[in-house]
Amino acid sequence: MADHRLARQAVVVASLPADCDALLVSHLPNIRWLTGFTGSAALLLVARDRRALITDFRYAAQAPGEVGGVADVVIDRANVWDRLRRLLEASGLTTLAIESHVMAVRDAERIGALFRGRVIPLADVVEQLRQVKDDTEVAAIRAAAELAAEALAEVLPTVTAGERELDVAARLESALRRRGSEWHPFPTIVASGPRAALPHARSSARNIVRGELLLIDYGAQVDGYCADVTRTVAVGSADERQRAVYDVVREAQARAREGIRAGMTGREADALARDLIACRGYGDAFGHSLGHGLGLEVHEAPRLAATVDTVLPIGAVVTVEPGIYLSGWGGVRLEDDVWLGPGGPALLSDGRTDLIILDA
Ligand code: ZN
Ligand code: ZN
Repeated sequence: MADHRLARQAVVVASLPADCDALLVSHLPNIRWLTGFTGSAALLLVARDRRALITDFRYAAQAPGEVGGVADVVIDRANVWDRLRRLLEASGLTTLAIESHVMAVRDAERIGALFRGRVIPLADVVEQLRQVKDDTEVAAIRAAAELAAEALAEVLPTVTAGERELDVAARLESALRRRGSEWHPFPTIVASGPRAALPHARSSARNIVRGELLLIDYGAQVDGYCADVTRTVAVGSADERQRAVYDVVREAQARAREGIRAGMTGREADALARDLIACRGYGDAFGHSLGHGLGLEVHEAPRLAATVDTVLPIGAVVTVEPGIYLSGWGGVRLEDDVWLGPGGPALLSDGRTDLIILDA
């Protein structure tokens, strides 16, 4: 059976414009997806008849093992750019595409100077393909989400009023690591009381107060694939307004995660939650988009947003994360991870969004 990485490389080649001989892949998640290489520095040349991964001596032992036979591994001890120049000269290419959405201007200038042919800026070629996950990728995201749920279940009963947000974040990150999470895909957010009104708050030294809402947004990573989950819980008790806002978000999130389908546009998916929140009078308080793709990166294509008119492909994995944020009061966000399979949406995270009131 053909290696899935070889199949992916073949699709990249088939996606190139007719007048383009090769793509120079510089974005590391794209390199990983195409070759299995997990190091922190490399260039991958995907030409019609040749695949070459150029990296440095730090990866001399690691790269051949990870890449296997799916690309030639070229180790350069001195200068990878000079090695690229020689490789391009030897290959006889006349046009070379670069990843214009990620390559630094300085590196693009280097390539312009070392390559005699034409350089074509191309954006998102590999990212477009990465939207569609195969079974192995979906299984890795599901495993990361399961691990994330177990870690939170361990930590929530230990939360006490009076401790700092950072203390909760530290215990959660420890629990994630002990369960095998390779990395925190983004800094864990533990935001209490009024700080929960900041959608991307960092965990702070603020002490958690009984009677407040506590928003926890965190991730886990398995085999390179990310899960991204948000839960909002009440500390000790929940008053009428907290319950009312929570219920609107919960209803909107359920509507979106059950109603979302491949074939919808990003705008249509976003509207599933946004229309309901607006209808309940909180339209101005939901200021971000509904969700984003999830995979080797924690934010990747496709996006679920009112500005997106492209269609969600079958096989994408996306987050569904509506929220209501009221300045000075606090906020509620609920986020789950959903696979857009051919038969409809399937939850990869546990989807447990009943309001938890901590005995704290
Ligand atoms: Zn999140
Ligand atoms: Zn997210």
